[in-house]
Amino acid sequence: LNSKLPNTKDSIFSIMSNLAHKNNALNLSQGFPSFPVDTILKDYHTAAIENNYNQYAPMAGVTFLRESISLKMLKLHQANYHPGNEICITAGATQAIFTAIQAIIHSGDEVIVFTPAYDSYVPAIQMAGGIAVEIPMKLPDFNIDWQKVIDHINDKTAMIMINSPHNPSGKMLNHDDMIQLERLAVQHNLIVLSDEVYEHITFDNNAHLSAARYPELKKRSFITASFGKTFHVTGWKTGYCLAPAYLMKEFYKVHQYLVFSINHPAQIAIANYIQEESRYLELASFYQRKRDLFLNSIKDSKFSFDASQGTYFQLLDYASITDENDVTFARRLTIDYKIAAIPISVFMNGTDPKMLRFCFAKEDHEIIKAAQILNSL
Ligand code: PMP
Ligand code: GLN
Repeated sequence: LNSKLPNTKDSIFSIMSNLAHKNNALNLSQGFPSFPVDTILKDYHTAAIENNYNQYAPMAGVTFLRESISLKMLKLHQANYHPGNEICITAGATQAIFTAIQAIIHSGDEVIVFTPAYDSYVPAIQMAGGIAVEIPMKLPDFNIDWQKVIDHINDKTAMIMINSPHNPSGKMLNHDDMIQLERLAVQHNLIVLSDEVYEHITFDNNAHLSAARYPELKKRSFITASFGKTFHVTGWKTGYCLAPAYLMKEFYKVHQYLVFSINHPAQIAIANYIQEESRYLELASFYQRKRDLFLNSIKDSKFSFDASQGTYFQLLDYASITDENDVTFARRLTIDYKIAAIPISVFMNGTDPKMLRFCFAKEDHEIIKAAQILNSL
């Protein structure tokens, strides 16, 4: 068979979670919470099924949910998104990202991606016939070199993808970054895909700067988000996409023939749950406490780190422990030390970063156990 994705392998998230399971290891690799979902949300889901929301949802999503998202964007970012034609509820951010790319990217178009990049970006671009132009972030701070971006823009450049707070580094883009991006997007007539799945998980008073806050950027941006991340229900695979009407019109065309609509009871449950804004506003302090517990517990270990600014991930540098590459070290940690993490070289081809990503969306006792293991190295 002539594969359409010859270079695509099994996702590292499946590989590490399977290895963790097989070795009975503490799984801090794949990003998902280990604690249970809020019973209020669970009860809304049960009620939705009992109230017969069991048939197809509207194509773009439950209206009440879209209205609530619209209101949230206005409150948090002073940004207007019309619930009727600028919002689509999707099967997680993954589908939102894939759909936006299929809707916009033509064969031969170039899309700028900053590495390390979330693993679904490049295959989604390739499936559309596009070319992913990978620009490495500057280590150790994971900054974007905007001069490098300028150097890579040409007539074929159609889109720039950003992700803040950033998976896996936990780095957040600042105002200067957003202004640079806005200027380039306007000057070169580019579409932006801003992946904001960790929008509510930010620490130390770092403000999340949504692309929606910058008027010229908003005019040309898709924004993707994930209820899985925000409400501890990654298995519900629900998220959404925001874009101005002329872009959303193209998005809907793909969405309606990719999935038509997504899980109805989950949408009803989330629509009810989201009415209390504390549900998402308290997320930052909830996870900051866990991040601090993790970092305080390993401060005397041989690992070094810069505290994550956002997301529920922490990178740990292990250069003073071993020379092994990160894939080998991650395997050994899982098998011999019973703790699994993600080797980040898989998100940045051909590099040897000597850093592993640990997910701290875990019960406190698991975080403490993880720290004990890491301290023993
Ligand atoms: N983008 C990033 C940066 C992510 O980390 C994830 C999932 N962890 C997604 C997109 C996908 O989100 P979802 O699970 O809602 O599909
Ligand atoms: N986004 C999650 C992570 O970064 C994993 C999602 C997945 O398993 N595809 O760990």
